[in-house]
Amino acid sequence: MIEASKLTEEFGCLVFNDRIMRERLPKDIYKAVKKTIEKGSHLELDVANCVAATMKEWAVENGATHFTHWFQPMTGLTAEKHDSFISPTDDGGVIMEFSGKELVKGEPDASSFPSGGLRATFEARGYTAWDPSSPAFIKDGSLYIPTAFCSYGGEALDKKTPLLRSMEALSTEAVKLLHHLGYKDVTRVSTTIGSEQEYFLIDKDYYKARKDLLFTGRTLLGAPATKGQEMEDHYFGVIKPKVSAYMHDLDEELWKLGIPAKTKHNEVAPSQHELAPVFETANIAVDHNQLTMEVMKKVADKHNFACLLHEKPFEGINGSGKHNNWSVCTDTGMNLLDPGKNPGENIPFLVFLMAVIAAVDEYAPILRLSVASAGNDHRLGGNEAPPAIISIFVGDELAEVLKGVEAGSAYQSTGKVQMTMGATVLPHFTKDNTDRNRTSPFAFTGNKFEFRMPGSAVSVANANIVLNTAVAEEVSKLYEKLKGYSGSELKEKVMEVLKETLLEHKRVLFNGNGYTDEWVEEAEKRGLPNLKSLPDAMPFWISDESIALFTKHGIFTKEEIQSRYEILLENYSKSIHIEALTMQEMVRKDLTEGIVAYEKDLVKEASQKKALLGDGAGSLEIGILKSLDEASVEIGKALAKLAEDTKTAEGKTEALDTAEFYQRTVLADMDELRKYADKAEALIPEKYLSYPTYGQMLFSLR
Ligand code: ADP
Ligand code: MG
Repeated sequence: MIEASKLTEEFGCLVFNDRIMRERLPKDIYKAVKKTIEKGSHLELDVANCVAATMKEWAVENGATHFTHWFQPMTGLTAEKHDSFISPTDDGGVIMEFSGKELVKGEPDASSFPSGGLRATFEARGYTAWDPSSPAFIKDGSLYIPTAFCSYGGEALDKKTPLLRSMEALSTEAVKLLHHLGYKDVTRVSTTIGSEQEYFLIDKDYYKARKDLLFTGRTLLGAPATKGQEMEDHYFGVIKPKVSAYMHDLDEELWKLGIPAKTKHNEVAPSQHELAPVFETANIAVDHNQLTMEVMKKVADKHNFACLLHEKPFEGINGSGKHNNWSVCTDTGMNLLDPGKNPGENIPFLVFLMAVIAAVDEYAPILRLSVASAGNDHRLGGNEAPPAIISIFVGDELAEVLKGVEAGSAYQSTGKVQMTMGATVLPHFTKDNTDRNRTSPFAFTGNKFEFRMPGSAVSVANANIVLNTAVAEEVSKLYEKLKGYSGSELKEKVMEVLKETLLEHKRVLFNGNGYTDEWVEEAEKRGLPNLKSLPDAMPFWISDESIALFTKHGIFTKEEIQSRYEILLENYSKSIHIEALTMQEMVRKDLTEGIVAYEKDLVKEASQKKALLGDGAGSLEIGILKSLDEASVEIGKALAKLAEDTKTAEGKTEALDTAEFYQRTVLADMDELRKYADKAEALIPEKYLSYPTYGQMLFSLR
């Protein structure tokens, strides 16, 4: 337990952070490492050796016996292999050693990680390379070193490498443009991310009793509880003591790892919660989000909970997302998405705002894909999360600013409006200039954009890779249009180019309610894509436009793009395959067992009543029996169809065709089966079921 008064000391106590490096490293070494971190310059081996020795000393003092290169393969999870620091000596003892070489490079066998055809299995070698820009930390007795992971041929096999490349690309393009606009002292631009993480907590024993949760992370069966989220009583509701104890413990574990967990609250659905950290540099924020998800599960286990991170663990109530708050700031301390006092004349702001608008419009299908997964497809467009149509909410004030850009007239800020609440005892404050629009997938929220489509379970790396790269491309286009101008001509040209870009892309701007059918129609008229599922969106990933974008900025090679295409599709199909098998098993064994047991008792009861009381007796039991029998006949049919179609899917070989079949046929079969299974379940008393119901799982922690 961290005492409140000790928090500032204990925060980051398990992290080899800047403070520790400054204290422990010789001055010149510290400077060299800082240069690498801040400017991205290469690190010499003697520097690495010195850092390694210091790291090891610090790690051992803090109880670590092992080190591991920690990386993020294409599974979307993290991977680690631990080596101890020990090195045998001649006298039969050991010393603790850790060299610069071991710090900088690892050689894990890469053959069992997804590579999408980039590497044949016999080419087993892969490399992990230290990412000094994300600090090492201690967890469970090991020193964790964040690393990038690539194949023997140098192709990226992970999510960190392209993320770092995309940050680099955006920085390069932004610095070029900013220099041209007169901001000569900017040398680097970085993206910042704050990712709000939603999750469910349920009783651990319930979790273990359900094969669907264990194998797939979501419930594949389950009649709705008689209460859902309709009372709107959970969002921001009083946090129950057991949950509060969990959140407290979670905060502490995260703080020790240097993760700035800031906000916690109950979410809309019963048993759903959220945690939001203070924003950090993109690369660190992504690492920290991966760690947060892991620690959430670990701490849950200690508290006898299971933490569900799936995007749609329960039908009929909200699923979970991960809002990706994103901004761009310079090393001179300027937030390029901060409108400031006079946004109409704030050129860097207007230029970057327009680059984002153009990027989101131009590359909407790829952005949509960056958040696509079998799990997240259940959420998008379900009126609980943004629709699959990508649009941008800018709010009233920015809408006025943009009108000014279009009309060629400068917008004058109306200033802040005082908020009055009618009771003089309440404090007076000024209103924000934009309200919030929860239905927008991509919303401007004051000094940043909030991308609301990412799912709760996946790494936010993909979303940010696409966002950074697409914006880098639009910034580069703006630069190309402006580079021939200077002085007052440049100022005029900027406004002209902004207007031109706005006219080209304003179809993507939408301030209204994104959950309505009217918007779906309107979006179609505007020509905005509505890619409902991963297989629908997938062809855009390997389109000429996508390949041109990613290869131009050095984010992915054509081969890397192709490999990610294969991996995504395969992962999608495999996820649904496991779901289909799990559902069949649960229905065939668990649900059927419940149906049969209850039917037996009903038959017995009804016949005994009849024998005792004559015809007409036992009508309640007979009525239930009939309904149950009807449902079970349909269950039998739907189960047979699902089994047959799953077999057909297993025989398919082409990746997109397979995924489409899973999406269109197997998922539809599962819906059909569920309809009748849930009907049956709703009739059966809990004691006949070997697994817990929605009511038990969702309301037991109250
Ligand atoms: P909401 O009301 O949308 O739930 P908050 O206003 O509490 O959210 O903050 C959302 C997130 O935005 C936080 O994680 C916060 O750190 C992050 N954030 C704030 N400023 C920036 C920025 N400049 N860049 C990236 N993220 C930011
Ligand atoms: Mg938010």
